[in-house]
Amino acid sequence: MNSPTTTEILIVGAGMAARRFAEQLLTRASEPVRITMIGDEGRQPYDRTRLSDLFLGAAEEDLTFDSSLFEDDRIELIVDDRVLRIDRRAQTVLTRSRQTHRYDTLVLATGAYAARIAVDGAALPGCFAYRTLDDVEELREFVQARSAELGRDLRGVVIGGGVLGLEAAGALQTMGVDATVIQYADRLMATQLDGTAGSIVKRHLQARGIAVRTGTRATRIDPDESGAVTAIEYQDGSFQRVDVVIFTVGMLARDELARNAGIDVHPLGGIVIDDGCRTSDPAVLAIGEVASYDGRCVGLVAAAYEMADVAVGRLLGEDVAFSGYDESAAVTLAGVEVVSFGDALASTPDAVDVLYADPIAGVYKKLVLAEDAHTLLGGILVGDASAYGSLRPLVGARLVGDPSSYVLPARG
Ligand SMILES: Cc1cc2nc3c(=O)[nH]c(=O)nc-3n(C[C@H](O)[C@H](O)[C@H](O)COP(=O)(O)OP(=O)(O)OC[C@H]3O[C@@H](n4cnc5c(N)ncnc54)[C@H](O)[C@@H]3O)c2cc1C
Repeated sequence: MNSPTTTEILIVGAGMAARRFAEQLLTRASEPVRITMIGDEGRQPYDRTRLSDLFLGAAEEDLTFDSSLFEDDRIELIVDDRVLRIDRRAQTVLTRSRQTHRYDTLVLATGAYAARIAVDGAALPGCFAYRTLDDVEELREFVQARSAELGRDLRGVVIGGGVLGLEAAGALQTMGVDATVIQYADRLMATQLDGTAGSIVKRHLQARGIAVRTGTRATRIDPDESGAVTAIEYQDGSFQRVDVVIFTVGMLARDELARNAGIDVHPLGGIVIDDGCRTSDPAVLAIGEVASYDGRCVGLVAAAYEMADVAVGRLLGEDVAFSGYDESAAVTLAGVEVVSFGDALASTPDAVDVLYADPIAGVYKKLVLAEDAHTLLGGILVGDASAYGSLRPLVGARLVGDPSSYVLPARG
């Protein structure tokens, strides 16, 4: 039996933020704690950011985090169950399996849903999200079965041209599906890249055999006589034959538990937290993608981990605070390095930039500088990101020497 002073911590969600929180708390707590982690995915926490590796030969076990965390007597992991309701007065939660669990501190780490656009046909067989191991398994099974049924390679459309969409297009290609990316904005990765960088990335993808349509909106997805996806229609009236559609159009915070329990939720979605990850209920913390800080939820694992660390620190009585979102992205897409960091889109008033572009070689480098033309605010690197390691720590600092020397190719 637990000692009467044992603090009961209940974590809802068994994803990346939840695992980090539990690991940190068990490592650092000197007082007795007991953690119950409840996840609805039916498996141990895994590295969601590596989902696309499954198409490059990785197995499910390669993505699963080291399970030694759950060998600690102070933690119990319950999988394949879902928390349905929070009773804040009794400090309990009720799960789908009709179990009630008590808590002293409740940690909501429920992540987000993959959003779908509201078009007719968005739920037809052949339409997928790209968020979980189950999504990937279902996608693979569908592609295999459908291509056997039709006796040919499939045609796929990814709706959403952000990082996730480009990863999904690569995944389709590795399964032998002819892939097209549809992007409503005028360029790919619109929140990270400017027009020139976006078009260079587009050319890289096209060279790899992935078609890209920017400034395009899907208006309908049509079924064939079997009920499965057969065509997609666009706002300009054109249509395309398609057998599989993947939605990568953003995320929706899974904040319904908090909302139904009367905990403050932001009008744009997400459980409102302060810089200590506290919600409007002092006994409830929220971390990861479900948490809305400064009016926004962000789908970046570094932010989820920092929130987990801050939440643990506060529980242990430390004076730590979440430092805010750093939306830098450094990814390799279709074999091309793409980096965006700091104020990459030069939104700071009077910012100036230094550019180097070689569209033939597919290289683009931009540094965004403050109006003094020396203080680094951010940048974009496509095709050659070798300078990223040295530039990233310099954001906010004055660059030594001529800023163009950081982007121009070495002479000779
Ligand atoms: C394909 C893909 C690639 C990505 N790549 C990157 C990347 O390169 N870099 C990066 O920074 N970020 C990346 N991300 C985002 C990153 O994975 C997320 O930011 C991170 O997983 C957030 O952690 P989380 O714990 O908040 O949510 P999650 O990891 O989603 O975990 C939430 C868990 O809670 C469960 N849950 C929800 N509600 C309940 C309930 N009521 N009861 C029980 N369980 C519940 C969910 O099923 C889920 O398992 C990627 C995401 C995807 C999908």
